[in-house]
Amino acid sequence: MKKLVDSYKREIEYMRISVTDRCNLRCVYCMPGEGIDLTAPANILRYEELARVVRISADNGIKRFRITGGEPLVRKGIVGFISDLSKIDGIEELSLTTNGVLLSEYALALKEAGLNRVNVSLDSLNRERFEKLTRGDKLDTVLEGLETALRVGLTPVKVNMVVIKGFNDDEIIDFANISKEKPYHIRFIEYMPFNTEEGWQKDKCIGAKEIQERIVAAEELFPVEGGKKSTGPARRFRFKDAPGEVGFISPVTEHFCGSCNRLRLTADGKLRTCLFSDTEINLRDALRDGSSDTEIEKILFQAVKVKPKRHKINEEFFKKTSKTMSLIGG
Ligand code: SAM
Ligand code: SF4
Repeated sequence: MKKLVDSYKREIEYMRISVTDRCNLRCVYCMPGEGIDLTAPANILRYEELARVVRISADNGIKRFRITGGEPLVRKGIVGFISDLSKIDGIEELSLTTNGVLLSEYALALKEAGLNRVNVSLDSLNRERFEKLTRGDKLDTVLEGLETALRVGLTPVKVNMVVIKGFNDDEIIDFANISKEKPYHIRFIEYMPFNTEEGWQKDKCIGAKEIQERIVAAEELFPVEGGKKSTGPARRFRFKDAPGEVGFISPVTEHFCGSCNRLRLTADGKLRTCLFSDTEINLRDALRDGSSDTEIEKILFQAVKVKPKRHKINEEFFKKTSKTMSLIGG
């Protein structure tokens, strides 16, 4: 089998696919209150087009696919799409990132369709804060969604908390403690620079090291055996005898670009080789102009060739990406 290897010898084996730029929440760090100008439906890739990209990518060594958005569960037909993807040869893991609002409704159907697991974004356990951050009063619904995901076996269920200084950093320990009660994998993520209404301020980002230190000051954490062999960028730990885990993801303070193994496909059919770079390769046109699978494959290889060595968030002249997270898919 051919493999997608970039100019820095990183083997690309993971693809994140945004299926929509629409969302049923309006998180302040992701989009403005009135929402964003949505992409015309005709410019969003159809499910057949996405499935074709997945098939060709899987033929070229991409083994893990994550479906994201906007909010992927608001796109009609998502369960059927997952079911179609799950039949493609070569896929080892199919996962989905969601805000959890529709999760209790969809979890069982997604599991039966062949989804392996979910990541759920949850930044506060305090109802007022949750509402302030997401501009939606849906905390209870999200918590219900988490429970349902666990019950139907979309596991491990990962809970992603973006830590924002002065907003929710006093909840770090509460979040970590959830892993003592239930087998959730709690993952603390550094607040990242994106093109949002509020704008990113570096001093609102708490480094993963400090987050970890705050937890460890209260109780010891133990590295998870083999945790690093796992595929993702998280450093993984657990409390003694805890059923769940805590993990730390530090895109800002300790970039993990050297082991970055991913490509992103935006909802409007552009390949992005780095979350923080505006370089995009247009795949949509090729998918619609009668290009053969070999030609599509060639575009994948071209994209991988221009994948940058690393991001430049910490450099003086770093320019925030022009697209919001909801368009790129996180
Ligand atoms: N709507 C889904 C959700 O919220 O999980 C999927 C798409 S969302 C864009 C993907 C992830 O990006 C979420 O976990 C969200 O918290 C994260 N995100 C958005 N803006 C961010 C920022 N400025 N810094 C860190 N993470 C961010
Ligand atoms: Fe929607 Fe996810 Fe963006 Fe929040 S982070 S507005 S839930 S896409």
